[in-house]
Amino acid sequence: MAKLLEGRPVAEKIKAQIKLSVQSLGRAPVLASVLVGANPGAAAYVRAQEKIALELGIAYKLHQLPENIPEGGLIDFILKLNADKPVNGIILQMPLPQHLDYKKISESIAPKKDIESMHPCTPTAVMELLGSTGIDLYGKEVVIVGHSQIVGKPLTLLLLEKFATVTVCHIATSKAGRLEEHVRRAEVLIVAVGQAGLIKGQWIKEGAIVIDVGINRVADKIVGDVEFEAAEKRASYITPVPGGVGPLTTAILMRNLVEAAKLQQ
Ligand code: NDP
Repeated sequence: MAKLLEGRPVAEKIKAQIKLSVQSLGRAPVLASVLVGANPGAAAYVRAQEKIALELGIAYKLHQLPENIPEGGLIDFILKLNADKPVNGIILQMPLPQHLDYKKISESIAPKKDIESMHPCTPTAVMELLGSTGIDLYGKEVVIVGHSQIVGKPLTLLLLEKFATVTVCHIATSKAGRLEEHVRRAEVLIVAVGQAGLIKGQWIKEGAIVIDVGINRVADKIVGDVEFEAAEKRASYITPVPGGVGPLTTAILMRNLVEAAKLQQ
């Protein structure tokens, strides 16, 4: 039976380090959070971020902008935050209303204040979780399912830096009917797709470490992409969903903010 690889204990350690860093800064770092419109998902992220910021001595400044703001207006707003010296970091809450191009707008955030891109939060959270197991990734067979810009691709590079042998699966792997064969040989499996039950528990190699990044709502429950009950019988470690990768990403965002504030000092 697998050990549960929970995000909270790892997040607590990171938060303790952040508190010390905030103390050594001598003032509260300022995080500007830009929320456009009234998306309930984005509002939930904001509440979670506000809570952790308060706990860590970080000044969280929420800017709520109207749903119908034109792209140029939003970019101008961000440029003002770029120029606002006391602001150390800027986050643009997702999802944005349909008429706004995330890539274009996020590129207007000054690199030194772009705390989401500094050390990408979710891939870093996955690396922290793997680190907490004590596994040496050198030469390990790691299979990632999903190759998105925010998870799969940056994670591939982080794993290569550790000399893991990395296979990246995506939609074409599934269409070719070869997802199962790759998953079956994974010593470390990381899944970031967003499809409940995509990865069958029976596919998990005995003793594998399973990190499930996926978040899916199924009949009022949040589940990952891996069939948890069957997978936990075979894995050595497995992340719960919720409670795995999720709680760590906000802690890493705050760590990036403090690092940005230090660099700006
Ligand atoms: P994207 O939709 O951007 O990417 C999904 C990826 O899965 C794509 O690379 C896609 O390939 C691939 N894919 C789709 N269907 C299949 C399939 N049948 N077989 C294999 N690969 C497939 O999603 P994100 O990366 O943004 O997020 C993935 C999941 O992780 C979501 O559930 C999201 O909610 C969750 N998430 C969780 C976070 C956390 O902190 N816990 C943070 C970020 C995301 P292709 O592009 O080629 O179609």
